[in-house]
Amino acid sequence: MKTIREQARNIKIFRETEVVVVGGGPAGVAAALASARTGAKTVLIERYGHLGGMSTGGLVILIPFMSSGGRERQIAGICQEMIDRLDTIDGAVHPSDEETGATDEKTLRYWRRRGTFSMAPGDSVRYGALVDPEKLKCVLNDMVEEAGIKLLLHSWGTRAVVEDEAVKGIIFESKSGRQAVLSQVTIDTTGDGDIFASAGAEFDGTIDRSLRSANLALVWRIANVDSERYLDFQEQEREKHNRLMKELTAKGGFNTYWRSAHDDVLWCNNWIPNLSAVDVEDLTYVEISARKSMLLSHKFLKEKIPGFEKSYIMDTASQTGTRGSRRLVGEYVVTWEDVMSGIIHPDTIALLPHLHNTPEKSFPLVTIPYRALVPRKIENLLTAGRCFSSDPEANNVLNWIQQCIPMGQAAGTAAALAVKSGVTPGKVDISSLQENLMKQGVPLPESK
Ligand SMILES: Cc1cc2nc3c(=O)[nH]c(=O)nc-3n(C[C@H](O)[C@H](O)[C@H](O)COP(=O)(O)OP(=O)(O)OC[C@H]3O[C@@H](n4cnc5c(N)ncnc54)[C@H](O)[C@@H]3O)c2cc1C
Repeated sequence: MKTIREQARNIKIFRETEVVVVGGGPAGVAAALASARTGAKTVLIERYGHLGGMSTGGLVILIPFMSSGGRERQIAGICQEMIDRLDTIDGAVHPSDEETGATDEKTLRYWRRRGTFSMAPGDSVRYGALVDPEKLKCVLNDMVEEAGIKLLLHSWGTRAVVEDEAVKGIIFESKSGRQAVLSQVTIDTTGDGDIFASAGAEFDGTIDRSLRSANLALVWRIANVDSERYLDFQEQEREKHNRLMKELTAKGGFNTYWRSAHDDVLWCNNWIPNLSAVDVEDLTYVEISARKSMLLSHKFLKEKIPGFEKSYIMDTASQTGTRGSRRLVGEYVVTWEDVMSGIIHPDTIALLPHLHNTPEKSFPLVTIPYRALVPRKIENLLTAGRCFSSDPEANNVLNWIQQCIPMGQAAGTAAALAVKSGVTPGKVDISSLQENLMKQGVPLPESK
C-alpha cells in the first residue's frame, strides 16, 4: 500500500474542559447530560447538524422493551425523560402506565398492531415508544442546552490526544479547521469506537456475518399509507402477503415495513449484509444500493399491496444505518453466557430487559457492569453505546437505543465523579456511582 507522510503542525486548542463526549447519539447525549448534571464542565462533539444518532438521523424510530413484561419498567432515567418530554409536544406514541403489562387480548392486539410492544401472542404489553425523529432532535437540543453543555455540531472527532497511555483530549475537524479539546476524561460514544481505536485501546473489530449487527442499512419512510388496511391484509391474507413479499425480496426489494408515531407513515427497517460500518466504500455502497432498492420496492408496494396505493416516499435517513462496529475490549467483556445466565455484576450500572422473553420462557434481566465501559491500560477514557465491551452475540442483543442510553448515563456520571474526586475513571467508587445513578431514577438491582 502506498502512503504519504502528513506534516506535523500546531493545532489550536478550542477549549480545556473536564469531560468531552464525542458522538451525540443516544449514548452520547445521555453521557453528556449525566456528566454536566453531575457537575462537570462538559463539551459534546457531534459530526452532523443534529443530535440523536440512529434514533433521529438514522430514522430508527422505535425505542422498545423498556419493561420486561410486568408493570414495572427496568429502563427509566434519561431514556424515560426523553419520552416524557416528547409527550409534551405530541412526539411519541407508547402504552400508558395502565396498559403496560396488560395481557388482555384487546390491549395486546392494539399494541401489537402498532409495533414491537410484545414478543408473541399471549405475551403482555411491553413499555417502549415510537418517536417522531424531528421532534426528538428538538428535545435533545433543549436538554443539552438546559444542562449547560458546550455543544459543537458539524464537528468530526478524528483522534485522541494521548500521552503515556492516558487520553488528554481529542482533535476534531470542522469548517473552522482542525482544533483540539483538552479534557480530564474523554467519552467515546461514536458507536464505532473512533476515539478509543485512535487512542490505542484494545478493541475487537471482527464482524460475525450471521448476526443482525453485521448488517448496514439505509432506512426510508413511506407516507400516506393506509396502515390499517395494510395490517388487515397482513393478518387476513397472510399467505398471499408472504408470497408477495418473497417476490419483492427476490427482485432485490425490502420487505419489512414498521409503523411509526404517525398513523400513515411506515419505516423500512432494512439490512444490507456483510458490510463494515468503518469502511468508506461499504458505506458508499449502502447509500447507492439501498436507494435503488427503495424505488423498486415502492413501485411494487404501490402496485400490489393493499394500503400503499396512494403512498409516496417521504424521506431517506440522513445517516447510514449502523447496528454494530468496533467493540472495546474493556476491563470486562460481556458475553452471551452473561446474557443468558442472569449474572448480577457487583458493579452493575444498567439493568436491561431480556429481548428473548416469550410467554413460554422468561429470561432473567441482563446487567451491564461498569467495567464494560472502561478500557484496559489506556487511562482517562470511557465508552458507552453499541461499541461497549462485549462479544458479538451479546452485543447483537444489547445495542438497542434503550440499552445504549443507560450505558451513556452511567459513563457520564462516572466521568464527572472521577473529575470531582480526582481519580481516573477506572478508580471511581462504584457504590457512589450506583447511588448517584439511582438518585437520577436509574433502576438497579437490589442485591449487587
Ligand atoms: C436499520 C436499523 C434498525 C434498528 N432497529 C432498532 C430498533 O427498532 N430499536 C432500537 O432500539 N435499536 C435499533 N437499532 C439499533 C440502534 O439504532 C443502535 O444500536 C443505537 O442507536 C446505538 O446508539 P449509539 O449512541 O451507541 O450509536 P449511534 O446511534 O450510532 O450514535 C453515534 C453518534 O456518534 C456520531 N459520531 C460517529 N462518529 C463520530 C465522530 N468521529 N465524531 C463525531 N461524531 C461522531 C454519529 O453521528 C451519531 O450521532 C437499529 C439500527 C439500525 C441501523
